[in-house]
Amino acid sequence: MSINAFECRMCGHCCHGEGGIVMTEKDQKRLAAHLDISVDELVEKYTEERGGKLHLITGDDGFCFFFKEGCGVHPGRPDICRAWPFFRGNLVDEMSWEMIQEYCPGVNPKAGHKEFVKQGKQYLRDEDLLRYDPDSSPNALISDD
Ligand code: SF4
Ligand code: SF4
Repeated sequence: MSINAFECRMCGHCCHGEGGIVMTEKDQKRLAAHLDISVDELVEKYTEERGGKLHLITGDDGFCFFFKEGCGVHPGRPDICRAWPFFRGNLVDEMSWEMIQEYCPGVNPKAGHKEFVKQGKQYLRDEDLLRYDPDSSPNALISDD
């Protein structure tokens, strides 16, 4: 059996930083339903528009607004949070995969990049996280396959 190329260590690094969490329409509906509010309310209170796409806002601590010692909205989290670390750049570029190991301790260097790609593509397919329209989806999820 092959070793796991990724297993989250719950360090929270990927929930830190501004503007990385792009919200598709599907994401907005799912998170609004999880919070039991309307999509309009979600958009008004918890998102901001940049470059024509909606992003989740961050709190004063620099973490995603919904980060509370872990994801505070886990069942309703956006696709891009579900997809990390299997972003396009980390799949197509071995150097990127090497670089994210400093940032994300869940990425297992021993598995190797080839295995990371194999398991990542399978995961993205299984979870329906591959996207093909860069106008409406986060660039990190756009696939050629
Ligand atoms: S950076 Fe990696 S290990 Fe840390 S919480 Fe995010 S996915 Fe998990
Ligand atoms: S929605 Fe959850 S997983 Fe995504 S950045 Fe915010 S706290 Fe992290």
